[in-house]
Amino acid sequence: MIWDVHTHLSGVPGDTPEDRLARLLEFADRMGIERLCVSMGMNWSHDPPPDDLRRQNDEVLRAVTRWPKRAFGFVYLNPNHIEVSLAELDRCLRDGPMVGVKLWVARHCNTPELDPMVRRATELKAVILQHTYIKTTGNLPGESTPMELAELARRHPDATFICGHTGANWEMGIRAIRDCKNVYADLCGSDPTAGYTEMAVRELGATRVLYGSDAGGRSFASQLAKVLGADIPESAKKLILGENLKRILMPMLKLKGIKL
Ligand SMILES: [Zn+2]
Repeated sequence: MIWDVHTHLSGVPGDTPEDRLARLLEFADRMGIERLCVSMGMNWSHDPPPDDLRRQNDEVLRAVTRWPKRAFGFVYLNPNHIEVSLAELDRCLRDGPMVGVKLWVARHCNTPELDPMVRRATELKAVILQHTYIKTTGNLPGESTPMELAELARRHPDATFICGHTGANWEMGIRAIRDCKNVYADLCGSDPTAGYTEMAVRELGATRVLYGSDAGGRSFASQLAKVLGADIPESAKKLILGENLKRILMPMLKLKGIKL
């Protein structure tokens, strides 16, 4: 069972959200990937205004509604528009089919402005996937690091966070989240480097590591290689490729009556 925690509708051929998810699933089928978590629309912006945020979520809603047994939607929120984001959380997740939250680069995730969104998402049993990067050339103005996510996670011990890309600079990212038991490492997005998954398993334990691809930004094959090629036990690979994600999504799936 392989579930991918991190995919997008950008960078994929197709004129509509449904066309693009169809292509992603075609590629996923070749690799034996059963389910994709999908977030953000066909065109991205770093700090989407309310109408753009709603448009992007509408596109994901269209796509995941077409393949309810293959795709889970994560609602894209912007901490610079708290009221709109809380309304999107209700519309797409509480009252709609989405199961998780996606945060990207609009605002540093350690700022107190995120607190109401995290509290509300946690009440609704949603996991939060926060993009994190440590760029050698410097981050974008609102782009979060794993260290900032660790600060947020310490303020919200009941919430469940996924550290998107594990900071890309994963040696620093894994260390930054090591003491936060409510933060999971998402392997997606960087080049498949030997040692990445091994270090994550050694420092966090295999139950806190998740396979993700960042498709269409990256190929499924290159990202699966991080897990399949890792020098770790088979049982750890199973956890990372799908069992961990299934376990952390289960409260939400039960609540929604989603049968697997
Ligand atoms: Zn992403």
